[in-house]
Amino acid sequence: MLEFQDAQRIILEHAAPTPVETVDIARALGRVLAQDMASDAQIPVSDNSAMDGFAVRAADVADAAQNSPVRLAVLETIAAGAVPTQSVAPGQCSRIMTGAVMPRGADAVVMIEDTDPDGDAHVLIRKPVSEGKPNVRYAGEDVAQGETVLRAGRVLRAADLGMLAATGHPTAPVARRPVVGILSTGDEIITPDQPLTVGKVRNSNSYSLIGQILAANATPLPLGIAADTPGAVEAALKAAAEKCDIILTSGGVSMGDFDEVKKTIETHGELIFWQVRMKPGKPLTFGKINGAPVVGLPGNPVSVMVGFEVFVRPALMKMMGASELHKPRYKGVLDEDVRMRIGKRLVVVRAIATLKDDGYHLNTTGPQGSGILSSMVLANCLAFVDAAAEPPKKGTSLEFFFLD
Ligand code: AMP
Ligand code: MG
Repeated sequence: MLEFQDAQRIILEHAAPTPVETVDIARALGRVLAQDMASDAQIPVSDNSAMDGFAVRAADVADAAQNSPVRLAVLETIAAGAVPTQSVAPGQCSRIMTGAVMPRGADAVVMIEDTDPDGDAHVLIRKPVSEGKPNVRYAGEDVAQGETVLRAGRVLRAADLGMLAATGHPTAPVARRPVVGILSTGDEIITPDQPLTVGKVRNSNSYSLIGQILAANATPLPLGIAADTPGAVEAALKAAAEKCDIILTSGGVSMGDFDEVKKTIETHGELIFWQVRMKPGKPLTFGKINGAPVVGLPGNPVSVMVGFEVFVRPALMKMMGASELHKPRYKGVLDEDVRMRIGKRLVVVRAIATLKDDGYHLNTTGPQGSGILSSMVLANCLAFVDAAAEPPKKGTSLEFFFLD
């Protein structure tokens, strides 16, 4: 039986990168950037006004006040997108709109609210430029020309799509989404549309996994339900190996008479490990069929989802070249005793983290059996109890990560 860390490391070692493809940035949310991206220009490209108002020489209006305004000649009106035609000399200014290019000679903008018109060609300035607030956005203050704005390995977020657009990249090179096969096994498993009769179980695992795979920005490929026979499992796995970057199976990896997944990998592929010192998910199996990695998740609905979060999601992130494979971890204090047999192995607790004045607090989602899917529905996080002998008591601090 492997320690959790070793099992995770081995699966990651077998996660091969997917090829790079170019996508429209409008469709790139959540994709992993495959190259460093630099800006073709400085941003802003030129000094421009942060306000609607008058572009002035700050020294001209230093003594301006509400009751003794400074009178300036207005040269022109500069709209956003236009190029100023005149230089501002002492005693002069230009009317300017937000985002419009600053005219030469001017070093500040007085906002329109602090001015009054004086005939067609003059303006009364009623306030000096405040210290350190010239209302000018300077060329290059956001991004320098040639600057790397996003690094390879980044999972693209909303602001990143905007930054790519701003820096002249209508498309971006990203890792192809891994195609993740999902094979459920079990003679008792029926489809969700079928009536639930005695002894049967509706296939929930395929759907939980579809959701988790989509949330990881990979492509799920549901492969149906294989019967608990060596032939059915072998045929399904070999067919899956042709079209998947990685295959996930559910069920059939325990010690039962009809548990065929592990046996099939052993006989027709390469069994890399079986069993991990953790709960839930102990019989987790890892191997290869015709070169394709297969993660044999134990069939219980919680084991499937926990196994995905701790083993498969990081592997998918590695396949996509992400620089951060794991979700950020936080610490929270248990508000109740954890009631379960744990033994010396990693225990993954389904929990609800709540932010209070003194940090995060954790409550379990009730019964923690590996068949209790409601414990995942209620959970907003997974909390980790490291190989302790006794279940943790109220007040113990645990590490956790959020599910979403
Ligand atoms: P197994 O690992 O095949 O022994 O399955 C363990 C438990 O998980 C059994 O109670 C199965 O009925 C259940 N199970 C297996 N596959 C699924 C599935 N696709 N959806 C929901 N439950 C399942
Ligand atoms: Mg089974």
